[in-house]
Amino acid sequence: MQPAMSTALPVLRPDLVGPQAPPAPDHARQAGHLLDSHGRRIQDVRLSLTDRCNFRCVYCMEPGDRFLPKMELLDLNEYIRLVDVLRALGIRTIRLTGGEPTLYPQLDQLIDAIGRRDFDDLAMTTNGSLLDLDQLESWRRNGLRRLTFSLDTLREKRMASITRSRTSVADVIHAINLAKVAGYPRPKVNAVIIRGINDDEVADFAQFARDEDLDVRFIEFMPLDSNRAWNRSHVVDADEMIAAIQQRFPLQPETEITPHSTSMNWTFADGAPGRIGMIAPVSRPFCGACNRLRITAEGRVRPCLFSHDEWDIRTLLRNNSSDADVAAAIVDMAWTKQAGHGIGKADFSQPARTMSAIGG
Ligand code: SF4
Repeated sequence: MQPAMSTALPVLRPDLVGPQAPPAPDHARQAGHLLDSHGRRIQDVRLSLTDRCNFRCVYCMEPGDRFLPKMELLDLNEYIRLVDVLRALGIRTIRLTGGEPTLYPQLDQLIDAIGRRDFDDLAMTTNGSLLDLDQLESWRRNGLRRLTFSLDTLREKRMASITRSRTSVADVIHAINLAKVAGYPRPKVNAVIIRGINDDEVADFAQFARDEDLDVRFIEFMPLDSNRAWNRSHVVDADEMIAAIQQRFPLQPETEITPHSTSMNWTFADGAPGRIGMIAPVSRPFCGACNRLRITAEGRVRPCLFSHDEWDIRTLLRNNSSDADVAAAIVDMAWTKQAGHGIGKADFSQPARTMSAIGG
């Protein structure tokens, strides 16, 4: 005779129950959407699907970094429930991140589930190493709208030394072209530029944007690296990168600024295809208009990329709490969002969590 199936919820180990945010003021709780204490409305979520990655980029992870046990990561139903609660709280756009999100085993189902819900945008950031045309087409049919590829060099030897992986530049370019064939709008390519590592390729990347009609965005190196080696002298400022490009290709700034955009954009003055973007959190912070919240793969809400506080939503998803409880908790968590990253300030300190465990 089969033993009776227990319906009790799994008892959460105490060490898995994380911090809860202090209560937000009534007006924030009654707003019906997410606000922070600096008057910003939160409408965009970066959802990390895994802390795992098949790359070991030198500015992000160390070869020996360990990953969380799978049972600590959110499962598909928890993501879908979270997405529904976020939708009800006025979140309009979602970006899927990692680690490397294409390592998430139920990515097809999650994209399909989010695609059936009324969001303004669903995008994904990927290193492009695990993509094929069928997948790309099926995700697009199911609601994935935009793709951003991380590529920090156009030189094969350097690709191996930066990513410490077997994926080649040619593999990533092939994936970018598959995204075009699958009908995604002009793919974005994000390149993290570090002095002494790849800063001599800025103009080459601009050539790449022209040749392939891509949206190439240069990201200033941020203090989120696993070996905590970051310092200001490693950062190549946006102004310096623009000057390097202008020497080869005159640029004209785009006048139309998308609210909350992290990137300042230029087109080529000679009308060539392609676009150049600068994501300059260090030299030109854009925190004032930030509308983003991040949720890590194990269900921690990080109101800011550089938060030292992060709040546990997984416990509420697993302990029989109602959707209203989950929503109320997220309202409290969003309210704690700090004004900005504080890089360069005397009291700035690098968060304990690294980029790979937060997601872009
Ligand atoms: S550092 Fe924080 S506040 Fe600033 S833009 Fe990034 S997430 Fe927003």
